Amino acid sequence: MSSAASSAASSAAGSAANSADANLYELFRSRFPADRSRPFIMTDGGPGLSYGGLEEMVGRMARLLSGLGLAKGDRVAVQVEKSPETIVLYLAVVRAGGVYLPLNPAYTRAEVEYFLTDAEPRVFVCKPETEEALRPAAEAAGVAHLLTLGTAGEGSLMERAHGLDPDAATVPAGPDDLAAILYTSGTTGRSKGAMMSHRNLASNALTLHRAWGFGPDDVLLHALPVFHTHGLFVATNVTLLNGTGMIFLPKFDADQVMRLLPRATVMMGVPTFYTRLLQHPGLTRAATAHMRLFISGSAPLLADTHREFAGRTSHAILERYGMTETGMLTSNPLDGERIPGTVGFPLPEVRLRVVDGDGRDLGREGIGSIEVAGPNVFSGYWRMPEKTKQEIRPDGFFITGDVGKIDGRGYVHIVGRAKDLIISGGFNVYPKEVETVIDALEGVVESAVVGLPHPDFGEAVSAVVLRKAGAAGPDEAAVIAACKEQLANFKVPKRVFFQDELPRNAMGKVQKNLLRDRYGATFGG
Ligand code: AMP
Repeated sequence: MSSAASSAASSAAGSAANSADANLYELFRSRFPADRSRPFIMTDGGPGLSYGGLEEMVGRMARLLSGLGLAKGDRVAVQVEKSPETIVLYLAVVRAGGVYLPLNPAYTRAEVEYFLTDAEPRVFVCKPETEEALRPAAEAAGVAHLLTLGTAGEGSLMERAHGLDPDAATVPAGPDDLAAILYTSGTTGRSKGAMMSHRNLASNALTLHRAWGFGPDDVLLHALPVFHTHGLFVATNVTLLNGTGMIFLPKFDADQVMRLLPRATVMMGVPTFYTRLLQHPGLTRAATAHMRLFISGSAPLLADTHREFAGRTSHAILERYGMTETGMLTSNPLDGERIPGTVGFPLPEVRLRVVDGDGRDLGREGIGSIEVAGPNVFSGYWRMPEKTKQEIRPDGFFITGDVGKIDGRGYVHIVGRAKDLIISGGFNVYPKEVETVIDALEGVVESAVVGLPHPDFGEAVSAVVLRKAGAAGPDEAAVIAACKEQLANFKVPKRVFFQDELPRNAMGKVQKNLLRDRYGATFGG
């Protein structure tokens, strides 16, 4: 981290992160409720976990990890399904001075092999059913201990922690010591491990806790995966700082969420949660009257979804923007206008600028590359100093890879990813601009615009459109005609394809690379 970024960080992360012991776990523990019988995790019909129970389990597990020889900075890789025990494990690793490294349970054996070889964890925790298949990869990567954890808490991890003394000492950590490595899903090239420090995580959690007005009566509905920054850090860390409970669901299921919503006050979700809730007949003003806040992020929330949700429930979804490497960066206001199609203002302590290709600040209204700095911004990619240098400027600003603008009122708009930028016949086309026109057509749910290889133009603008079921949506000629009316010719799609669904990853992001693969031969380019 640059000295500018670290001095901003030290003023930001609060006293706990500034003291000699900046271990994130101690910050959380200082916020646990005095009455430790208060719930932390609530499940749907299963056993929950109180703050007292959490403290004991984290203590036992931290002791187990230290007993396995986990030293400060050692990685603990984890590829398991979501369960309360995964949160215990995360906190125990941090408490024991280790580096938590969660992996998407959908990763294949070959992918896991890469992560283990790259990260060289001392301990690897996997599902009981994958233990034998993954053992050779773990051995080849020099993993000292392979343990298992199942969704009901079964497996060797909990067995070995059982009965240990819960009174473990927290390993002191400096603010810049690593607490976690999260591999970014990167659609091209090798996945990169984003190194997150105790300060990065503490400062972002404190900022969000304040910005979103969390208080003693809040209960969070948590249906997100916990291998990603959204469910692990945004949702869980804010709850821990608040010292209150969360309803912890293995995955998003609209019926289950509607049934449990009356027990919650806040929900954090990806846009697909909201589009699915809109398809649920139970989503009404009355059913959500007790809710304080609905938050969306990780992928763009369609302005239509925002409006429809507000129409049905009278709640304006609060959209925010962030990424693995930086935590959360911007948020629509808690008090103030939440504008559909924008991601709001830079959060306190986050510096955000929009620059042109030469790094010149474009100020308001200019479209360009979004760069950010602050105590929440990571220090670099694990064992990739060259990549780190390419993406963090000497003044500490990280090049997000997102293209956007800051409007006249200071709201940030995301226009697309730099790598999704289409260059057709030498002209730049931002997919979002074309998608906005198509999405507004009667009978269209949403669209994804991509560039396909083309012998003359280099890339040809092409659209993949999802039409409303049962409605008479536009055909290819109608989409093209509508675009011609509103957009310069070079932005008008040359072809339009229709699908019943857009491919999305676990965080609800449209996988444009799959669309480019599928239609790549269209123009013979
Ligand atoms: P990840 O590192 O998986 O969290 O992905 C981060 C990327 O998700 C960002 O760089 C954006 O491209 C995208 N993203 C996150 N939140 C939003 C949002 N509210 N609107 C548009 N894109 C978003």
